Amino acid sequence: MFDNLSDKLDKALHVLKGHGSITEVNVAETLKEVRRALLDADVNFKTAKEFTNTVKEKALGQNVLTTLQPGQLMVKLVKDELTELMGGETAGINLSGTPTVILMSGLQGSGKTTFSGKLANYLKTKKSKKPLLVACDIYRPAAINQLHVVGDQIGVEVYSEPENKNPVQIAQNAIEHAKQNGYNVVIVDTAGRLAIDEAMMTEIANVHQAINPHETLFVVDAMTGQDAVNTAKSFNERLNFEGVVLTKLDGDTRGGAAISIKSVVDKPIKFIGTGEKMDAIDVFHPARMADRILG
Ligand code: GDP
Repeated sequence: MFDNLSDKLDKALHVLKGHGSITEVNVAETLKEVRRALLDADVNFKTAKEFTNTVKEKALGQNVLTTLQPGQLMVKLVKDELTELMGGETAGINLSGTPTVILMSGLQGSGKTTFSGKLANYLKTKKSKKPLLVACDIYRPAAINQLHVVGDQIGVEVYSEPENKNPVQIAQNAIEHAKQNGYNVVIVDTAGRLAIDEAMMTEIANVHQAINPHETLFVVDAMTGQDAVNTAKSFNERLNFEGVVLTKLDGDTRGGAAISIKSVVDKPIKFIGTGEKMDAIDVFHPARMADRILG
């Protein structure tokens, strides 16, 4: 994961680690290298700039130059700040509802349907919940079938109304069905489009308003870098979502989305997707991710 970024950061910090005495000049140079590595990894420009400025301020504030092991302290400052940038603490999901309603949002291809299945599987096997999956894509019958295939795979019921073209109604009926049949989590998979358009946004905003979910999760493909951050912004403006799901972190992603998204939309990454299989889901831990990035 993020091999390129890890390599570059390692090289940038290596200079400091190796130096006997550290001057303000090589702290500045190192941070310039760190910034360059972040930008190369597709981290948002403003985020990268603020990041290095903060680390610099902290380094000066802690008199990094006069400590016994300045290189190590710098590495720690970078790691701590990276953790902070990605949200600091792990953000849980709210499962307090009866049933808890979770709305999935995101573009087509982001991994929404796959993740809906993974989340249902996770809640069933790890949290002893009884989830219901809901197919709310009224445009692509294939999407409804796909969710049924996923549901069969993990042994979770899928609610769909293939003849109904009203997603608000489908979602409401599904919640009623859940109440009648003892399901305690309802995961609503919505239609995605290849790009953001007004009709799509209005549709999901209507569903959101009608069902008032406990959690709205925005699913985004980590491989899309800066676009991921821009898409997150648009969805957040309309849905004010609770958290982000970053998928395809097993692929050749540069890491920019993981690092920038929290600082741009001020919403935490809650889960990551690390493969196509139903168990390829992880709760997001900012500190662990920072460790992986810094090697
Ligand atoms: P949707 O259109 O947003 O519902 O996206 P899908 O769930 O259909 O996923 C699109 C493609 O991405 C499918 O081929 C999935 O198998 C794949 N996919 C989803 N999540 C992951 C992931 O975490 N890692 C990898 N490698 N592929 C994923």
